[in-house]
Amino acid sequence: MNITETNNLIFIDHTNISYLTDVILNVDEQEVDILNFFRLSELKTKWKVEVLPFEEFKTIMIEKRGRYEDYMSGCAFSEERTIRILNIEDQIKYTKHKDADFEKFCKQIVHEFVHACYAEILPNAVQWFNEALATFLSHQDRDFYDISDVDLTGLKVFNEIASKGGYSYSYFIACYLFNNYPEEEVFELAKDRDLLISKSNFLFDETKKWIKEQLNIRGKK
Ligand SMILES: [Zn+2]
Repeated sequence: MNITETNNLIFIDHTNISYLTDVILNVDEQEVDILNFFRLSELKTKWKVEVLPFEEFKTIMIEKRGRYEDYMSGCAFSEERTIRILNIEDQIKYTKHKDADFEKFCKQIVHEFVHACYAEILPNAVQWFNEALATFLSHQDRDFYDISDVDLTGLKVFNEIASKGGYSYSYFIACYLFNNYPEEEVFELAKDRDLLISKSNFLFDETKKWIKEQLNIRGKK
């Protein structure tokens, strides 16, 4: 078992991956921008990042989250201040992430780090918005596609839509927000649960329109 401590994280690798040092450097470089968005200088106390093999990860998901599905390859457990993630090899072997690689693995840890930061300022964040920030701020970029006919209110029960486009929809909403509002206003939405909930339907509609515009603009080029 390899244990490495950084400013905000304690990496505990149970699987002896060869790329851990590079992962730590990569993640470390990205932490500042995320902390800045949340107006944090550091995490109050360090979070653990546990790199696990498949069986162990699956068992923990079932035990602590009640279920495991094959899109799940990493998870932030705020109650234990721990991020648990499958190593790249096991993601490819056992999950639907057949294209897992070094870059995606790092982005995934950064994604979970966003959840860690968000939990510092709001323990009961709205999940679709939490995923919107996590996918966007970790640069888990994905191509836009027309979502005019999608009922985005489904995001309100995120677990049911997670494997059916939920992460993409959340990412699209974040793109709409960061491209159309000052970061300060996005942060206001992040820290004020009631404000966010009152504006959700408006944001869903505006995102659909904006994505369609973006696709039209790109189509004309
Ligand atoms: Zn997430």
